[in-house]
Amino acid sequence: KDAVEISLKDIDQLAKTSFPLCMRHMLEKLRENHHLKHGGRMQFGLFLKGAGLKLEDALAFWRAEFSQKVGSERFDKEYAYSIRHNYGKEGKRTDYTPYSCQKIISATPGVGDHHGCPYRHFGEDNLRAALNKMGISGHPLEEIMDKVKNRHYQLACTMTFEAEHGVSCDTGINHPNQYFSESQKVLKA
Ligand code: SF4
Repeated sequence: KDAVEISLKDIDQLAKTSFPLCMRHMLEKLRENHHLKHGGRMQFGLFLKGAGLKLEDALAFWRAEFSQKVGSERFDKEYAYSIRHNYGKEGKRTDYTPYSCQKIISATPGVGDHHGCPYRHFGEDNLRAALNKMGISGHPLEEIMDKVKNRHYQLACTMTFEAEHGVSCDTGINHPNQYFSESQKVLKA
């Protein structure tokens, strides 16, 4: 739908400026563990696809991390298929759609999972630390934590966007890819 296209070499920089917290978190965990479980590969992989990462770049991206953990042979055998599958290149050739906030918020991540919505699934201390790392503190941080307490997760994310970009986001955040494209609009304006 929009013409934004991201390439392999830009992912880390774009994560710092324009990814919502859920996706920053998964990139961080992937870089740290060289692995993400199924739920994370789906949520993050489809987000990257929606953000304009081409299939070849997606394969290179996941391969570079996973091969450090499981070896490149096992990656090619066990994981590459599902990445091509997400791009509609295998199986029923469905072109899978990136998950909305609503879907991500209603996920039930288990031990060792890193998908889900941090506003919904992180404990308070971890969420505060993660927001601090994004440069958010003081009054804006307390306002965000207040929304979280009242279970207004998307509103909390919208306020994070606003604090981070210094603009108001009247439509509100309802999709991670919307967060990304709105951010790119602001930064490129
Ligand atoms: Fe991600 Fe949506 Fe949660 Fe924001 S509200 S962190 S975009 S799932």
